[in-house]
Amino acid sequence: MDAAVFLDRDNTLIANDGDLGEPEDVRLLGGVPAGLKALHDAGFRLIVVTNQGGVARGRFTEDDVDAVHQRIAMLVDEGAGSRSLINRFYYCPYHPEAPLEEYRRDHPWRKPNPGMLLQAARDLHLDLKRCWMIGDQPRDVAAGHAAGCRTVLISEHGEAGAEPSPTGTAASFRKAVELILHSGTAPNGAAPTATKRPPRPAPDGPSAPPRTKRKGGTEVEGLRKAILDLTEEMRGEHLKRAEFTIFRLAAGMTQLLALLLAVLGLMQLGAGSTDVFMRWMAGAVLAQLMTIALLLADLKG
Ligand SMILES: [Mg+2]
Repeated sequence: MDAAVFLDRDNTLIANDGDLGEPEDVRLLGGVPAGLKALHDAGFRLIVVTNQGGVARGRFTEDDVDAVHQRIAMLVDEGAGSRSLINRFYYCPYHPEAPLEEYRRDHPWRKPNPGMLLQAARDLHLDLKRCWMIGDQPRDVAAGHAAGCRTVLISEHGEAGAEPSPTGTAASFRKAVELILHSGTAPNGAAPTATKRPPRPAPDGPSAPPRTKRKGGTEVEGLRKAILDLTEEMRGEHLKRAEFTIFRLAAGMTQLLALLLAVLGLMQLGAGSTDVFMRWMAGAVLAQLMTIALLLADLKG
């Protein structure tokens, strides 16, 4: 079963202090497309539930309501760069004191009754306990509460005596979205797109995104430094090993020369030539001294 956010329409998604029946008059409120996109990305289905008593009063028709809803859906998708972000619109055209008799009744869909939410739950297989209702009127809170949902009242004045009390209040739609996304109830459990939060919350809250970014930068910088240090170290080791080889190679060669001269000298001694023996041995001693000098140089290096 899915979770949804039920959305009041007038003065929650769009500016409307009167009866709005013209699609051209639709004006989205600030942050609405981005907020809806963030809720969608967090895994919520998005369902508008709105009382449209203007139909019952004869101000506009149900076809006008449909046209306005198509306009809202289009503007939201344009603003959010998405397709069909709002899953469904439900509206209640009835009013208990309507001049038009066909619409004169207190319908179970009319908020504060929860009928639209309950119908949506049946239509879309929603788990109402995991759903939220956002609205700007106490009747929105009451409808959400009656359906078993959590609720957010958009109000600059706190709860303002709303009965029942909402789960939370927010000064704007954007804040209401943040409240829901930070409540830990989102199906995807994460990442409000609109606020660019990291998948895992950092320990110090609101400053998390920049801090995380800096932390990430530091990690990359640290890794880069470690690689450079390692490269430098390997380069040093390589040079040291190369110097070691040159001195040791030279020392090895002079050592071999010293041994060769000593052997040749001894052969001359065996042949009875003492003078030649002394020259070969002098050469051998010289080669041996060179070997010692090379080894000392190697040790200093
Ligand atoms: Mg409203």
